[in-house]
Formats: sequence, structure tokens, C-alpha cells
Amino acid sequence: MSENMSVLADKVVSIDYELKLDDGQVVDQSQDEPLSYIHGKGMIISGLEDGISGMKIGESKEVVVEPGEGYGEYNEEEINALPREAFPEGMEIKVGDHLRVKEQDTGRVHQVRVLEIQPETVTLDFNHPLAGKTLYFNIKVVDVRDATEEELEHGHIH
Ligand code: ZN
Repeated sequence: MSENMSVLADKVVSIDYELKLDDGQVVDQSQDEPLSYIHGKGMIISGLEDGISGMKIGESKEVVVEPGEGYGEYNEEEINALPREAFPEGMEIKVGDHLRVKEQDTGRVHQVRVLEIQPETVTLDFNHPLAGKTLYFNIKVVDVRDATEEELEHGHIH
């Protein structure tokens, strides 16, 4: 392992991280294993990728990411009312529930939050749960190595 390896495009980077919101609440963190990704490929949010660029193995840093470079601005147009019959009969739905909804045409699955329940409709928030939030990452770079040809071709880590 080279001690001087720094984070550049096409390196496989492993980080320990903790993600907090401005109220100090921890909403995500690396588990038993560090998170590994190929740098410069948009595999992580752009603000975090920019913040990690140039860091060296063993270095720690706080990276603050504004919504525009994180999970996007909160968009009122992402709030949609669906007819009650779009949900399976007998399914219990409460305000605040997180549901997985599949788009009929594309098959894409969204995580949505129930905002309101009316007799005929259910109002859902399709925004990412972290949309509109400023993100405070504590990052430690655990390892940096060259990606193999195959990893670069496949766009993921082996
Ligand atoms: Zn592969």
C-alpha cells in the first residue's frame, strides 16, 4: 500500500463515513466495512466526490454538501395524489409511512412518503428523503488503489 496515494479519477477509494443533518441527527454511516467506489464516475453524490478529491490515505475531513450537489432541491411538483384504488384493498396506510411504489411504464421503484389520506386519494411525496437537506459528512479515507481495467470497464468494484 502506497502511503502517498491520493484520491483521483479512476482510483478505487474506500472511506469510513458518517452523515449528519444540520440538527446533528446521524442518518447514515458506513457499517462493518468501509464504502468503496470508483472515483470520478458519479457513483456517489457530486458534492461528496468533489470534497474527497485529493485526500490521502488516513486523512479525515468534514465535507458539507448543499442540496444542489446532494440529493437535489425539494420539489413541490414531486407531490402527487394517487387514487385510493391504486393501492391493494385492505392495505393499511398511515400518514408518515414510507412505501415503495413502482412506476407502471418504466418499472422504476420509488421510495415515497405518505403526506395525506383523503377518502378518494392518497397524497404521496416522491422527493428523495434527503432532498432539500444540507449534508454534513465526516469522512476518513481508509484506502486508495488503482482500479483494474476490468473494474473500469464494468463500472463497479470487484
Ligand atoms: Zn464486473
